[in-house]
Amino acid sequence: MIQNAQIHFNDMGTPVADNFDDVYFSNDDGLAESHYVFFTQNHIAERLTKHDQKHFVIAETGFGTGLNFLNAWQQYDALKTKGELPRLHFISFEKFPISHTDLVKALAAWPTLSGYAQQLCAQYPIALAGCHRLEFDDGNVTLDLWFGDVHDSLPSISCQQTALVDAWFLDGFAPSKNPDMWQQSLFDAMANLSRSNATFATFTAAGFVRRGLQQAGFECKKVKGYGRKREMVVGTLSAANGYASTPDYYATAASSLSNVAIIGGGIASACLAYQLSKRNIKSTLLCQDDTLAKGASHNRQGAIYPNLQADNNPPSEFYAHSFLYAKRFYQHITELGFHYDHDWCGVLLQAVSEAKQTQQRTLVEKRNWPEALIRQVNEQQASKIAGVSVPYSGLYIEQAGWVNPAQLTHAIFAAVQKKELCQVQFNADIARLEKTSEGWMLHAQNTRYGPFSDVFICGGEHSDRFEQTKDIPIQGVRGQVSHVRASEQSAHLQTVLCHKGYFTPANDALHCMGATFEKNTKSRSVTEQDDHINRAQLNKFYGNCDFANTLGEIASAKAAVRCCFADHIPMLGQVPDNQDLMHAFANLRKGKHYGFASQVQPHAGLHIVTGFGARGLCSAPLATEHLVASLCNEPRPFSERVHQAIHPNRFIVRDLIRNKI
Ligand code: SAM
Repeated sequence: MIQNAQIHFNDMGTPVADNFDDVYFSNDDGLAESHYVFFTQNHIAERLTKHDQKHFVIAETGFGTGLNFLNAWQQYDALKTKGELPRLHFISFEKFPISHTDLVKALAAWPTLSGYAQQLCAQYPIALAGCHRLEFDDGNVTLDLWFGDVHDSLPSISCQQTALVDAWFLDGFAPSKNPDMWQQSLFDAMANLSRSNATFATFTAAGFVRRGLQQAGFECKKVKGYGRKREMVVGTLSAANGYASTPDYYATAASSLSNVAIIGGGIASACLAYQLSKRNIKSTLLCQDDTLAKGASHNRQGAIYPNLQADNNPPSEFYAHSFLYAKRFYQHITELGFHYDHDWCGVLLQAVSEAKQTQQRTLVEKRNWPEALIRQVNEQQASKIAGVSVPYSGLYIEQAGWVNPAQLTHAIFAAVQKKELCQVQFNADIARLEKTSEGWMLHAQNTRYGPFSDVFICGGEHSDRFEQTKDIPIQGVRGQVSHVRASEQSAHLQTVLCHKGYFTPANDALHCMGATFEKNTKSRSVTEQDDHINRAQLNKFYGNCDFANTLGEIASAKAAVRCCFADHIPMLGQVPDNQDLMHAFANLRKGKHYGFASQVQPHAGLHIVTGFGARGLCSAPLATEHLVASLCNEPRPFSERVHQAIHPNRFIVRDLIRNKI
């Protein structure tokens, strides 16, 4: 579990870390020092204007108060007024994040940065380990805030051989005060992630730091330090060293994304179109229905919360970070002026059985998740939070809530279309995909679309209808949600209740009550029997509660097919070709992770984005961001273990490793 920093402010008003007994920035003009040491000595301004990529990546050890980041952002903004620049991507590592209150107080020292500081404080994340991707300036500036020891975070970054980082801000408390950080393993990990000609700058002139960086491959030199400081050290890595944390069988080939088609009209398509548009990539959306969000994204109210297990395993990490990102992303859609019904009213996961109680107790005892994300409440506290009397204790996710998925899907598309970066074709029922020498052709009954450089299949339960996708092991689970009229008592409910199903606070005098769970059917038709099942299930758990036994009639219902995989995590990436993979990675059967044959990649440019189950609202924004970032060779927001967990090759690779195929 991540611990917040314990700090105090000294007589000069400078923040000081109690456990390191060192200042976060210099007592005399920390901002000027930050600018000189890190920004100027890495020559960022000159390099930004003649960069060979669409994004420039700075990485920093020790986020502290974010002063270096804010300065870099302000400088970037100033340069942007003079001409086009690559997007700015800032990665920072922090073992002891300072609290939100301390951050606000520390940054108040810099009036010239106040506009930037406010935006940072508004998005500053809770103390959860892992990568928090924050976005500013409509996506032009990205901050990946990795909470945890830099020695753990650096190796967990998902990175292919092309490497990532252009410039290092090697900060951190003085080596004498923080010897654990300044280790050879840090310098080696920096070199591993560095692109050719990456630079570093550090305030310290300690000999062992310089020698360590030299050993890691950087050419180092001493230059004049800031102000009264005599020396500091800078350096360059002339050639990337070929390191990759992503093995070949989980690689994502970069793509031109020059002419993109998206098949499907739900929340995943909307998020994908948005993530592409953020990078000025145009797309054509092909939707089989006559409007968006007619499939699984069509409920009146969808609960949005992370699916957390007691252990911080890859699926839990995936959902925890996806949830926090989704909230920031949806907030941004609101700030852009696009409306959708929603309420961040919290979600109460009720311990409705002994097994659930044990499960919840284990989760709390393992202490993997901060209370700001999920906390245990007893029956009285649960009733107070709910606004109605409920007979169970539970876990409360205060930041969660519900949104109207169809309205949200429309709102995200409206944001994309405002930039004129997405064209929509309705009633486009694509039946066949054909790879031609010009690109992918999409065939509907009487029309064909294309050619496209890249096709993203976001077709939910229909995603496996194509020859190329027929072996993808998608499972369809039909679910019906009933809309029941609120009573005077039930209208007091003010949080989402999750029992075996879910029950939402009233919206327009209707509650959503659901959902049924029916495997192996793709029917979207509504049945009366399922309405009975939903009511019976609510009564089973809350039959003695006023709010439940006074409810009115069921006014309407909706049914949809949730599309998922056996491991309860979605799939994003290039559509695998089983024969190609089995041939190329045959050595995995012998326990060898090397000596692979080359791939033919018959499905290059064809990507699958599906399997979100009932959790697309929570997971689609960050998962699509991860995929697009990977295809653009940018830093990825998910760690390597999560990258592998959502990769389409995972089932085949696991079978090869177990020698099952
Ligand atoms: N760059 C910061 C700024 O602009 O405000 C100041 C950084 S402060 C001097 C050093 C930071 O490094 C502290 O926030 C500290 O918690 C962090 N730190 C120290 N050891 C670390 C480690 N092993 N991993 C990650 N962060 C670490």
